[in-house]
Amino acid sequence: MTRYTLPELPYDYAALEPHISARIVELHHDRHHKAYVDGANRAIEQLAKARENQDVSHIGALEQALAFNVSGHVLHSIFWQNLTPHGGGEPDGALAEAIRRDFGGFAGMRAQLTAAASTIMGAGWGALVYEPLSGRLATAQIHDHQSGGLQSSVPLLVIDAWEHAYYLQYENEKKPFFEALWNLWNWPDVAARFEAAQRLDPELRKVVEGASPRPAPAGARLNADTPPAGRA
Ligand code: MN
Repeated sequence: MTRYTLPELPYDYAALEPHISARIVELHHDRHHKAYVDGANRAIEQLAKARENQDVSHIGALEQALAFNVSGHVLHSIFWQNLTPHGGGEPDGALAEAIRRDFGGFAGMRAQLTAAASTIMGAGWGALVYEPLSGRLATAQIHDHQSGGLQSSVPLLVIDAWEHAYYLQYENEKKPFFEALWNLWNWPDVAARFEAAQRLDPELRKVVEGASPRPAPAGARLNADTPPAGRA
């Protein structure tokens, strides 16, 4: 059976100081993230058992547990990779170009994404996502770990707005925490996610107008007779 696993952090607990304290990183990764991994595996096992017993009476609750925990595992795994002690600044290249095209500039994207994270009622995430129908970037406000996302969109950069992400250090002041994260963003990681996301094809035709053309896949030859994927 498939098992979800807790990834190693790509840096030491203290590496993100002073912006995120070592104790927060330790608790956040070793306990909170681990709880989602364990919860996801438990839900998978319980669903297997339900099939074995041909008992669908608790499927609703199991589906909720599966969505919550798998989504928590996915978002935390991205979050750790999105951060680096040598981060901050602004992206360049195709990602910077797409941010200019879709948000009018880096400052606009930063303001919109920070506002998405800051205005969550309760626990959740702000996310910069690639939306494959339009071929454009968008922001999403995700409640808990799984509600409010755009189906088929791919998270590129995520802001954990749960209290466990900042409370030990920032107490009830979450705005300085969100601002501090901009010193840590690993733009090469976000750019690599953007590059990979653009290769996804949701196989939905004629459901959007004015989509941004997809970049040609690496090594592909230009062929004027072939419309870009997603536009046919
Ligand atoms: Mn978290």
